[in-house]
Amino acid sequence: MPREARKTHVSDTVSPKGIVYQLIRANVKNLNLRVRPDGTVRVSAPGRVSVAEVNRFVDSRAAWIASRQELMRRRSERASTDLTEGDTVRLWGRRLPVRLEVVAQARLEGAAIEDEALVLRVRKRWADADDAAREHRAKLVDAFLRLQLQEAMTPLFNRYEQQMGVHASAVRIRRMRTRWGSCATKSGAITMNLQLAELPPACLEGVVVHELCHLVEANHGPRFYALMEQHYPAWREARAMLKAAARE
Ligand SMILES: [Zn+2]
Repeated sequence: MPREARKTHVSDTVSPKGIVYQLIRANVKNLNLRVRPDGTVRVSAPGRVSVAEVNRFVDSRAAWIASRQELMRRRSERASTDLTEGDTVRLWGRRLPVRLEVVAQARLEGAAIEDEALVLRVRKRWADADDAAREHRAKLVDAFLRLQLQEAMTPLFNRYEQQMGVHASAVRIRRMRTRWGSCATKSGAITMNLQLAELPPACLEGVVVHELCHLVEANHGPRFYALMEQHYPAWREARAMLKAAARE
């Protein structure tokens, strides 16, 4: 997907259906519409397209915009968890209560599962309710999830690479907003979404096989799904769970 073109003009516009959006006149071929993480709508349009045309385009996508805004709202609600006593963290489809423990030294900080809880050890400064402390705790939880994901996916990649006769040149983990995994078919590098550690393990397995299938078939055509069927017959269930998770 192309990066946003150079901005030449920004303004707030209201469509006949009452959708507020930012109209950017830019050097782009087509009308592009996106809902940003804060819920605002942004349209980039070539100079030759009239505002009336842009309005019609925006209104024709009203239902989609509403559903994206709802999704972004839920995501920001989830992201705003304080990661303190009384909160929960998701791991492999379960919800673990957070237990906060104050430790004396930085080297003792970290997250671990103990007695069906996620124990979060932080220095006193980082046990507070302010944004910086919350951010610090979120980093510790992310590092923990990354380790969990790494440990779970390494044997899966080994197994399916052998079974399918393919090899990923690199496997990276990132938090991604719109995708569970991605595969650069030219370089053979695969990127996995960190959030997979929050979902049932079958989701991870489905994404591992899906991305490896892209090393054989770039597109989602019949041959791609024949490969999925062959190597991971439960892919439909995994996909349904991923879709449900994306709506949460
Ligand atoms: Zn795909």
